[in-house]
Amino acid sequence: MDLLEYQGKQHFASFGIPVSDGRAVRTVDEALAAAEEVGYPVVVKAQVHVGGRGKAGGVKLASNADECNEHASNILGMDIKGHTVEIVWIEHASDIAEEYYASFTLDRSAKKHLGMLSAQGGVEIETVAESDPDAIAKIWVDPVDGLTEEQARSWVLAAKLNPDVTDGAVALLRKLYTAYTEGDADLVEINPLIVTPSGAVHALDAKVTLDNNATYRHEGWDEFDATQVRDEREQAAHDADLQYVGLDGSVGIIANGAGLAMSTLDVVNQVGGEPANFLDVGGGADADKFVQALTIIDNDPRVRSIFINIFGGITRGEEVANGIITALERIDISSPIVIRLDGTNAEEGRAILEPHLSDNLQMAPTMLDAARKAVELAGGTPR
Ligand code: GDP
Ligand code: MN
Repeated sequence: MDLLEYQGKQHFASFGIPVSDGRAVRTVDEALAAAEEVGYPVVVKAQVHVGGRGKAGGVKLASNADECNEHASNILGMDIKGHTVEIVWIEHASDIAEEYYASFTLDRSAKKHLGMLSAQGGVEIETVAESDPDAIAKIWVDPVDGLTEEQARSWVLAAKLNPDVTDGAVALLRKLYTAYTEGDADLVEINPLIVTPSGAVHALDAKVTLDNNATYRHEGWDEFDATQVRDEREQAAHDADLQYVGLDGSVGIIANGAGLAMSTLDVVNQVGGEPANFLDVGGGADADKFVQALTIIDNDPRVRSIFINIFGGITRGEEVANGIITALERIDISSPIVIRLDGTNAEEGRAILEPHLSDNLQMAPTMLDAARKAVELAGGTPR
């Protein structure tokens, strides 16, 4: 889950990282009241799940109420890269002496956390990586050991930050590491990380991606979830607790297990089709899950056929078959369905499906055959 900037700052603040005082608001009047509270000059900042707001005109300084009124009016409702601004963050403006960049994310191939730090912040880090890769100091942190004070210090030296702020930067980066690990984030990024004229280091922006699998241990995350922007299909799937990602193709996909669902997308692509979605129904096979999954997919106007790809493991084939048949008795599905059922008790499962087969409910012996059949039913010519 990607957080809005102000939520990322809340996350940072809870780990002791210095951020500016601010308020998240939805109207111009609220913006003016917030500016009075935090004190002018203020920055009016669009809150959308996308970067580059500054360049798009979504970050403006206001030194008085007239300017705040003007900027809040312009920014609320503004479209930034397809995202409509519904919330602005009003924060007390900072004086900037220097702009740095800092982030932590997971380096899966190294099986370590990757920290990146640069004295060239405030611009897109991808640009720095291209034009001056040596300006980014990288550190790989063993998750068991954590980020020690010593490591952080040599990292800061390697990034050639202003030597006057070494202590402050080391302290902030160690807190950022904690906000990343203990805070259950997949990504934390501060750009710019600023130094004020008095030498304080401070997070001026926040980009945080939380690990959804950790939601159960953080009650406060409900509030973050409430501002997530999902398309209709994704919202319905989210409410039904299904792992779903909407795509643009015509073949609806249902599989049990994320790995199998991914492979199913690949196979559909391989035979010349276009998947309409990723959907993992998870373990278990109750009819309710299939009702929800089939309904979400069938409501998608792009979908022309549905490919159900099940590999029985702990969940047995006959349970899945019964789940699907019961679901189909409860709902009307307009697109034809192709089922591939394999794994534990596949024979028993297929025997249960057999009497129900028709033009609209077909079965195929292998994943490849089923993919071809689904592509054909979607109006394509399978390879
Ligand atoms: P982004 O464009 O979406 O990354 O938004 P940022 O929060 O990073 O803001 C963009 C730029 O606006 C920053 O790089 C700063 O140069 C400027 N900016 C943001 N807040 C302040 C502030 O409090 N004071 C000053 N002087 N500039 C700011
Ligand atoms: Mn930024």
